[in-house]
Amino acid sequence: MAEAAKEREQLEERLKLKPKPVWDRYDEAMREEAFSFSEGYKAFLDRAKTEREAVEAIKECAQREGFAEIGQGEGRRFYAVNKEKAIALAVLGKKPLREGLRIIVSHIDSPRLDLKQNPLYEDLEMVFLRTHYYGGIKKYHWVAQPLALHGVIVRADGSKLSVKIGEEEGEPVFTCCDLLPHLARRTQEEKKLKEAIEAEKLTALAGHIPYPDEEAKERVKLQVLKLLNEKYGLVEEDFLSAELELVPAAKARDLGFDRSFVAAYGQDDRVCAYCALRAIIEAKEPEFSTLALFLDKEEIGSEGNTGAKSRFIELFVIGLFRVLGQEPSEALLKEVLFRSKALSADVTAGVDPNYKDVHELQNNARMGYGVALCKFTGAGGKYYSSDASAEYVGEIRELLNREGIAWQMTELGKVDEGGGGTVAKYLAIYGMDIIDCGTPLLSMHSPYEVASKADIYETFRAYRAFYRWGEGG
Ligand code: MN
Ligand code: MN
Repeated sequence: MAEAAKEREQLEERLKLKPKPVWDRYDEAMREEAFSFSEGYKAFLDRAKTEREAVEAIKECAQREGFAEIGQGEGRRFYAVNKEKAIALAVLGKKPLREGLRIIVSHIDSPRLDLKQNPLYEDLEMVFLRTHYYGGIKKYHWVAQPLALHGVIVRADGSKLSVKIGEEEGEPVFTCCDLLPHLARRTQEEKKLKEAIEAEKLTALAGHIPYPDEEAKERVKLQVLKLLNEKYGLVEEDFLSAELELVPAAKARDLGFDRSFVAAYGQDDRVCAYCALRAIIEAKEPEFSTLALFLDKEEIGSEGNTGAKSRFIELFVIGLFRVLGQEPSEALLKEVLFRSKALSADVTAGVDPNYKDVHELQNNARMGYGVALCKFTGAGGKYYSSDASAEYVGEIRELLNREGIAWQMTELGKVDEGGGGTVAKYLAIYGMDIIDCGTPLLSMHSPYEVASKADIYETFRAYRAFYRWGEGG
């Protein structure tokens, strides 16, 4: 009997897939590394709540780490900014560029409430800001929350005002008021969750004191405009040429008695962005040239001139050739991108114990089991998906295993429950190998997303290993 048990144990050990929590894999020193990594991450989240602020933060960090603006400086480390909403960093490798790049693509936009272009109105002696939500939000998340206003306003003379109100202690905030439960029965509670709060009712309270002259119309609005004019030189028309975003005013915090999670707004996808940033900073003399792309507009389908469907990557790679004194042909550019290998660095859903029903536990990411690879995204019968080949998955698997990185394979929920996409398919157009690889989150797309510090650190380690591709392996 003892022999049989021993054989069974050996077989199980040798043959079965045995996921192990990252915390069990870590010794004290590794746990400290993961915790200390998350300190820098939380500071980044607080600093970079919008795509523009993320670009600023990434650019400053890159400059500090010896990256020069492409076309302006020399060396091996370069960056380029696309319209203040997307940024690319690169480190030239030992191999020639024509052998392809190692690319990590994340996005730095997050779901939020944008102000409408003509936002200010007064009702019952109160002033409100009309909003138009951006990305996949659940509208009920956005009422009765302290909100901060971030963005830019371009004045009539072309001068630009940066706005950030509601983040510092003592600054005012804004909020979209909710209906009291006492009176919500017919208006909200008997409706479907999705319909209970209408987009047009997501208006943020922004003022209350009237202009003293009782003859004036919309006296509170006039007083608010007067205040904005005195303080910032604004007139109402300036809102028409502005991009203003209401985001949760809360700061990133440790969560749990044991501080094992980070809770914060905007972790989709700034967790992957931060990990990619830290990883490329550590790429000193990589074999292959490495590229980190931080893109905008993923949350609305990668559209526009700052999203993944723009040709920013092509321009940046042309810039890299020029740094090396070469003028690449259209054909060469296509070949380089075709030969490249990429990670679509984006978050995925971690299984929520309260909603196991929407997950398929054998194939969905578990919190604390490491960075999650997603071979394909999309919905239904794998529609609208980029599908990484078995060969490429094999290569990444080999790389991560060799580096001792905790990783898991995932899909976004049960097949019939829904679905979602990432930038992967827009980069796959170039023919490069690409796979989704990122951190599992709880409460994804909510104003307060949750990530495990262990998964965050394994995400960083995975990206760092990816940039080390070809070194001694
Ligand atoms: Mn995302
Ligand atoms: Mn998202």
